[in-house]
Amino acid sequence: MKAVIITIGDEILLGQILDTNSRFMARELTKLGAETVEMRSVADERNAIVRAINDASLHADVILLTGGLGPTKDDLTKKVLAEYFDCKLVQNEEVYHWLVEMFADIPSRMNKYNISQALLPEKCTPLRNRKGTASGMWFEHKNKVLVSLPGVPFEMEYLMHNEVLPRLKTKFTDLFLRFKMVTVFDVPESEIALKLADFEETLLEGISLAYLPSEGYVRLRLTAKGSAVEQLEKTYENLLTALQDLPYQPSSEGDSREDLLRRLKNAGVTVSCAESCTGGTIAHIITSMPGASEYFLGGVVSYANEVKQHVLGVSAHDLGKYGAVSEPVARQMAEGVRRLLGTQYALATTGVAGPDGGTKEKPVGTIWVAVAGPNGTVTEKLLISHTRERNIGRGSVHAIQLLLAQIEKDKRS
Ligand code: ATP
Repeated sequence: MKAVIITIGDEILLGQILDTNSRFMARELTKLGAETVEMRSVADERNAIVRAINDASLHADVILLTGGLGPTKDDLTKKVLAEYFDCKLVQNEEVYHWLVEMFADIPSRMNKYNISQALLPEKCTPLRNRKGTASGMWFEHKNKVLVSLPGVPFEMEYLMHNEVLPRLKTKFTDLFLRFKMVTVFDVPESEIALKLADFEETLLEGISLAYLPSEGYVRLRLTAKGSAVEQLEKTYENLLTALQDLPYQPSSEGDSREDLLRRLKNAGVTVSCAESCTGGTIAHIITSMPGASEYFLGGVVSYANEVKQHVLGVSAHDLGKYGAVSEPVARQMAEGVRRLLGTQYALATTGVAGPDGGTKEKPVGTIWVAVAGPNGTVTEKLLISHTRERNIGRGSVHAIQLLLAQIEKDKRS
């Protein structure tokens, strides 16, 4: 099953909002086994919408639209769809009753705009939206499906989960895209490719391997299409066998940060951090996952040398002699926060995030990371990039990886 996602809205094209609906829908379709072949954003404008639908119908079995359904939008999408499917907009009694039920507590708030939400193209099957007044619309034409959903993310998500995905599952039994993911840590992509050369030679038609490198890790995605789906599990086992000498972890299809944080949580140790150049990003990443309170006690954002010295106990002499971005300072920051917060492990970062402040010896992107634990302190020097955001983002993730690697190493020994 091939899908095209079309989002409608001037706000997206003006750069005022980020199109998160497409990402959500593509992710859900992928989980279902469908292949999203295109995403497109178009203006709140008749011709743009029709052109997008016409193009999509050339290569999609399913077209998902969001946006332009609100009562204040002069029903643009509904009008366009009625015209497209050559039918009238008529009052749908079932939808009218849903609206009456929705306003049962405060009937006076059911004004003419809300009532107009019952006006739908007569060829559509309405999809009940319990989170808002704009119903979804399901059209079938020549074995293709077109679904129109409201733009408001939580309404769209509700309709996707409760109405659209279950129907797609029933209608398209030949869903034929499946994935398996694995993450390899601290091994360059080229080395992994060398290791997997023989394995790749054995891949059946319909199965492909993709390398998705990030700072400090590479995710490998095995994709199986069509009848090859049945061979995916066996191929995945072969992949793991081929990787056996490398530090790998099976991972989910989503963000590998989630895997990292899950492993950190499951490690069953307490953690704290002292951050200079990452400015609290490590604490933010760790606490973005529910359940962080089970192991993360807190952190110190020690941006200024005075804080490194007076709060964390970093030696003034070492700060002067080696500079804030140095191995001894990173080490003392980690040991200081570990002592201060009484955790089993502590992580510290100090670096030059940029764009200014770089020198020949310590260019922008230099970050010292230290992990203090029950068996001592380890440090690592990173050299990331010229971009501040990347240095902070990647530096933070890499630091968490180093922390986890140390915890897991200590557990093994
Ligand atoms: P409304 O009842 O608000 O008129 P609607 O179906 O007409 O709903 P839009 O007006 O297109 O939808 O969007 C409503 C709001 O939903 C937007 O202001 C925006 O905040 C959010 N939204 C719309 N499209 C998207 C999208 N593709 N990604 C993320 N948010 C979106």
